Amino acid sequence: MLSLEELRGVVRGKVLISEPMSDHTTIGVGGPADFFVEPVDRDDLCRAVTFFRRHRLPCLVLGRGSNLLVHDDGVRGAVIAASGALCGYRIRRDGLVASAGEPLSLLVARSFEAGLGGIEMLQGIPGTLGGALVMNAGAWGQQMSDVVVSVDVFDGDRVRTLKRDAIGFAYRCSGLDDTVVLGAALRLRHLSEADVRERTAAREEAMRRRKATQPLSWPNAGSIFRNPLPGESPDGLGAGAMIEQCGLKGLGVGGAVISDVHANMIINTGGATASDVMELIHRAREAVSSRFGVMLELEVMLAGFENACC
Ligand SMILES: Cc1cc2nc3c(=O)[nH]c(=O)nc-3n(C[C@H](O)[C@H](O)[C@H](O)COP(=O)(O)OP(=O)(O)OC[C@H]3O[C@@H](n4cnc5c(N)ncnc54)[C@H](O)[C@@H]3O)c2cc1C
Repeated sequence: MLSLEELRGVVRGKVLISEPMSDHTTIGVGGPADFFVEPVDRDDLCRAVTFFRRHRLPCLVLGRGSNLLVHDDGVRGAVIAASGALCGYRIRRDGLVASAGEPLSLLVARSFEAGLGGIEMLQGIPGTLGGALVMNAGAWGQQMSDVVVSVDVFDGDRVRTLKRDAIGFAYRCSGLDDTVVLGAALRLRHLSEADVRERTAAREEAMRRRKATQPLSWPNAGSIFRNPLPGESPDGLGAGAMIEQCGLKGLGVGGAVISDVHANMIINTGGATASDVMELIHRAREAVSSRFGVMLELEVMLAGFENACC
């Protein structure tokens, strides 16, 4: 049996009980986490993880919550916020070493300013480095796995350094989702002045398109479904295009609506619940399956759902 006093004796950071996850996810839905811990630094975070593992309580490490849908009943066990605990980065001659709680966009901007390329097109992805590694986040032809040299993880006992090839990166996923990611070393390439000019223009265009094609003024969790791999959908259609062709743009359930700007995004127009979002997910999957014969897979991670694969 876990005693709160014991937990507070182990963790130096804030420990909250029944903390609403709607306050910690970009889509703004999700019920309470039994324990919500904000460790003050890496040692504190590792102590918290060890403590919960010793008590056999599940713990979810949270980045920015920008790819997460939490059940309305919340999550049992602990949620451990990484962003305040895993801070710091160093730009090197040939890359970057950074802690997992750093905002990805900050790292992208700083390395590009230092004349380093390889992740410059990931500007605008609103997560942390840790979340980006777990999700193998990507955009405009670049993805995290292209630049990873190694990732430091904590397994409850010790810190291990995993080389890129041992991580199992694939499209929008990795073998890191059962680990605690502490930080990573990334190899980036030097950009010539001409490269910088060309890449600056490409980045500006990508940011302009992001603003024009995503419902950024509404709370959302990014793309709900992974795009099918080449050959897996008719005419190479993406998830959003198939949902749109099923006529589902603008479909609402409760406060959740399939965005009429980007059909692969669900927005919270106010008071949406996770079950509203789930209902839209089911309807989109059914419609796409019956019209295109494609079973869409979730990109958004689920927390607190018994059957995590909807
Ligand atoms: C408007 C918008 C636009 C987006 N655009 C893109 C895009 O272009 N490309 C793209 O790939 N994604 C995109 N996303 C999705 C999301 O931003 C990325 O997947 C991001 O990398 C998630 O990072 P996060 O810190 O928010 O992770 P979270 O959502 O907090 O967590 C995601 C998963 O990673 C795990 N996790 C997070 N940190 C750690 C850690 N330190 N250790 C272990 N596990 C951890 C969590 O437990 C969870 O399973 C977008 C999202 C939004 C809202």
